[in-house]
Amino acid sequence: MTPAAPAARTVRTVLGDLDPADLGPTDSHDHLFIRSPLLPGEELDDPTAAAEVLHAFAEAGGRTLVQWTPYGMGRGAAHLAELSRATGVHLLAATGTHQAAHHVPHTTPYGTPYENLAARFVADLTTGLPGAPEGVRAGLIKIASDPGPSTAHARRVRAAAAEAHHATGAPIAVHLEAAGDPHEILDDLREHHGVPADRIVLGHLTRLTDPALHRGLAAEGVHLALDSPSRAGHPTDLQAFDVIADLVDAGHADRLLLGADTTTRTARRLGGPARLLTDLAPRLSRTFGPDLPHLLLTTNPATAFATAWRRP
Ligand SMILES: [Zn+2]
Repeated sequence: MTPAAPAARTVRTVLGDLDPADLGPTDSHDHLFIRSPLLPGEELDDPTAAAEVLHAFAEAGGRTLVQWTPYGMGRGAAHLAELSRATGVHLLAATGTHQAAHHVPHTTPYGTPYENLAARFVADLTTGLPGAPEGVRAGLIKIASDPGPSTAHARRVRAAAAEAHHATGAPIAVHLEAAGDPHEILDDLREHHGVPADRIVLGHLTRLTDPALHRGLAAEGVHLALDSPSRAGHPTDLQAFDVIADLVDAGHADRLLLGADTTTRTARRLGGPARLLTDLAPRLSRTFGPDLPHLLLTTNPATAFATAWRRP
């Protein structure tokens, strides 16, 4: 008896499921649309400005952008498919939930009890995003850690994200805080909730300045998103190259993803996603050779975001 062939792994974009080989150079963590009560006056909410960002990214050689904005933070669900069609850039949308403080009002996101969050995440991943044209689905689940020990909100969101992962196979992307403990999040997801390490992407590593911590996390088999080089002059921007270089030297290049993580109008003015390709990639290429930017921008995202999608 021949065993059934494993389901093909695809990347779920807003225009449908894509062969991972077609992903091309990818900004693995960014925002075309986002708003938070913590960032007044810095909202990214203009589809025309988003189109300009994508045109500039495409002109620099970019093919795919992964948006980590979850529900309730103005993720632009109504615009993503049209923007992808108009600019030729593949877009991934996120479901999930950020820290409670980012959501308006500061209560349960989605206006639903926590018990219903997993079902909401699954619906975003398999049926479609509320407010989007029919069939526009999320391709990842975004959650966040706290600046300190996990709050009840974060623990409940994590449980819902793990449940949605088990139902669909979707990868889970985690916004880390410098003052939090990434191992607490990782242990909870893996040991308590049974999420495989290779389905987890940890973001904001450049905020955490301990190289031993980075190496330890990479050795666990998770994907690490180095995601701040859009903020010219920001300390995390200056640290990004060194963090990447240390992890490459330690043999963890196959774990690394790059993202610009543009969360404000100020950051967008200073660069945005195109800078990954016009600034960071040439610097990496000069130091490590051209294979490294290809690995970090094209090969690794195809692995991190490709999923053998399950139907719940
Ligand atoms: Zn982000």
